[in-house]
Amino acid sequence: MNLNKFYTKIINLTSNKKGPVSTPIVNSASFAYGDSATAVERFSGDLQNPQYARMGNPTNIKLEKAMTTIEGGIQAFCTSSGMASVSMAVLSLAIAGDEIIVVGGLFGGTYSFFKNFCSRCGIKSHFFEADDFDGIKTAINDKTKIIFCESVGNPNLKLTNLPILGKIATENKIAFIVDNTVTPLSIKPIDFGADIVIYSTTKIIAGNTSALGGIAVFRQLQENDKFYTKRYKEILEPFLKEHPKDALARIARPILRDIGFAGNAMSSYLTLLGLETLPLRLDRIKTSSNVVAKELQKHGFNVRHPSLQNHENNDLFNSLYNGYSGSLLTIDFENNKEAFDFLDKCSLITITANICDARTLGLHMKSTIYKDYDEKTRKFLGITDGLVRISIGLEDPMDIVNDFIQARG
Ligand SMILES: *Cc1c(COP(=O)(O)O)cnc(C)c1O
Repeated sequence: MNLNKFYTKIINLTSNKKGPVSTPIVNSASFAYGDSATAVERFSGDLQNPQYARMGNPTNIKLEKAMTTIEGGIQAFCTSSGMASVSMAVLSLAIAGDEIIVVGGLFGGTYSFFKNFCSRCGIKSHFFEADDFDGIKTAINDKTKIIFCESVGNPNLKLTNLPILGKIATENKIAFIVDNTVTPLSIKPIDFGADIVIYSTTKIIAGNTSALGGIAVFRQLQENDKFYTKRYKEILEPFLKEHPKDALARIARPILRDIGFAGNAMSSYLTLLGLETLPLRLDRIKTSSNVVAKELQKHGFNVRHPSLQNHENNDLFNSLYNGYSGSLLTIDFENNKEAFDFLDKCSLITITANICDARTLGLHMKSTIYKDYDEKTRKFLGITDGLVRISIGLEDPMDIVNDFIQARG
């Protein structure tokens, strides 16, 4: 992963060569069209100019264009949160009666969205471990609309073999959605067959807990694309004729409009600021998380991280993932008391539910995010009694290690 090259690209994408150098925060709910002909244009599929802030604004458009280029997509939409991007992408494709294959250790909100919300809408989700390829293939049927996965399981830290899942999706002509929140820049899901790439930009892209937001990036459709089948006919047909390339993005726009998922200008501005330093921070976190994991293991912590040889995806980590799986590692303590004592004694840990921040964060999983889950679900998601999730920040990695050692006592 050559982050320097990304730097050239990102700085170029976030710069304005004329007028204000920093992207203006356009804080307007509506936009005047000037004349009726332009109004008609805005309402007949113009995605590059704002129509009304519920469908986006110029500050969002700047971020959307940058992320579209970075991901190699054709169009992106900023949303109010990462969960809004997940919901927008899924609801744009799936309708009552459909089935979804959901893969991997999932972010709590995402699991709940599929399990609870989708089932209320008559959409059935089937959950699989990241490497259960036989199970996944067997579950595919005529009603399957989406295969959904995260690049890195949070908090089970299993790495998803995106090329294999992408191949299954392509061969079976099924939409493939990847939540790449934890691994921007280092993993490019569209190269592995993803159709929609999702980020919670709240995390490492904004990078400092300043802005809640999400983005969904859509792939360009080709001639004879896998979407030209009966499975997607009803949803895609209205858009395919006039907009064959960006039809996938266009089916999401009415969802953005009807549910009101749009991101706001302030958030997009802060996210653009974060984007400008993303390669630098990613590089730092890549080194630090590997160092911290190794040192903690050396000092007898029951630590889990894909860089460690005892992790089942260590090979994948070194090959496909280029030695980077985000800022997360987990420490499995004997019980919740030990976990609480550790967290409370650490001076460098901020105890919070967030991840991928400038500072080191930590949280006991079972008593917080997963407190309402039953034992069976917790087991599926890898939540043990003493599990603490750590997100490594930008501090000196050896300061983090030493703080953890003193906290364990
Ligand atoms: C945080 C997170 C989300 C949800 O994002 P919000 O911005 O908090 O709504 C989705 N997926 C992953 C992997 C996350 O870490």
